[in-house]
Amino acid sequence: MSQQVTIVGAGLVGALFAALLGKRGYQVHVYERRSDLRKTTISAGKSINMACSARGWKALDLVGVGDQVRKAAIAMKGRMIHGTDESLTFQPYGKADEAIYSISRTGLNQILIDHADQYENIHFHFDHKCVDIDLDTPSASFELPNKKVTHIKSDLIFGTDGAFSAVRSAMQKLKHFSFSQEYISHDYKELSIEAKAGTFQMEKHALHIWPRGSHMLIALPNPDGSFTCTLFLPYKGDHSFEKLNKEQKIQSFFKNKFPDALKLIPNLTTLFCKNPTSPLVIIKCFPWSHKGKVAILGDASHAIVPFYGQGMNAGFEDVTILDELLDKHGGDWPTILSAFETKRKTDADAISDLALKNFIEMRDLVGQAWFLKRKQIEHA
Ligand code: FAD
Repeated sequence: MSQQVTIVGAGLVGALFAALLGKRGYQVHVYERRSDLRKTTISAGKSINMACSARGWKALDLVGVGDQVRKAAIAMKGRMIHGTDESLTFQPYGKADEAIYSISRTGLNQILIDHADQYENIHFHFDHKCVDIDLDTPSASFELPNKKVTHIKSDLIFGTDGAFSAVRSAMQKLKHFSFSQEYISHDYKELSIEAKAGTFQMEKHALHIWPRGSHMLIALPNPDGSFTCTLFLPYKGDHSFEKLNKEQKIQSFFKNKFPDALKLIPNLTTLFCKNPTSPLVIIKCFPWSHKGKVAILGDASHAIVPFYGQGMNAGFEDVTILDELLDKHGGDWPTILSAFETKRKTDADAISDLALKNFIEMRDLVGQAWFLKRKQIEHA
């Protein structure tokens, strides 16, 4: 009889990992706190789109969903730098055929859940919030919307329940479990530039950046001609979210810092006040598994800041690595999970540090004259 696997969290990594295990014949049960996002509308300000790059595509192709995702993605061949004087400078990411891709987070999650749901041996349980894990059995408890709690036992339990993982929370009580959580000085808020008569109001095939030193605006294209923008600002101090608390302050801040963007966001104040401001957190921890029966992956084990566009990509790469280890060690999960955490921890720490360093490059260096010149020479 095939082993029963429980996955907590049907986000990007959980849905992808379910598809991989389903393809390999495991009996998979995926428990997700939220309702089925294929049947619900996402609230405004929470539709962030993602940059998908080589690591992501490799994992998506591995489970056979890459081509479907490609149809919904837009190639971004470089950065388009917007100056305060409204000048535009294009910095290619690589050779002509090289790009990263913009994809809606919700759209991608829906594709992944749909794909996994096709397997008879994969079962999704929405509106199930994990409230407790017994790591030794292993077993898990889930709270339903009516507050009733249901308990399940499983051969294996994986936590793909994001930065504030309930599975990791149980592991944090273990001896020798190291954990750090760091909020950076900046929060973020989503805004949007709508399509004009169905067309893009800026270059479609670029990741747009307004680098302004201590703060930054970015915009990624969507297939309907709109752009999802993300504003990064300190949460307190000068030019902070805390200070932008009146319509006139918001308008004059944008007029000074992002004049061309302001012209494209006529409903700026409404969006700014309506959409939530969210924090950015870095999570580091170790080990990522317990007795070869419970493990965490994706943001649950390594949440990073978004400035390298690699959080999801790194989580998807976790799935690729686990697939390789399954090929190598068959169903020997204690060996697989031990090799996985040993190999992956160094890589996860490296990408976490690079992502933080890239914040300085994105918000500051990319807009400086010497940097622009260097890029022009590199791509001449
Ligand atoms: P999540 O996406 O957080 O999914 C976790 C899932 O678990 C959710 O569905 C949640 O509802 C569920 N869950 C949580 N708790 C419970 C519970 N107790 N019980 C049951 N279910 C639970 N990465 C990139 O690669 N490229 C980008 O361009 C990029 N841009 C980003 C922009 C921003 C502003 C931010 C904040 C992040 C960005 N990232 C990007 C990072 C990326 O969003 C994450 O790395 C990725 O979502 C991690 O996927 P995950 O499945 O591990 O976790």
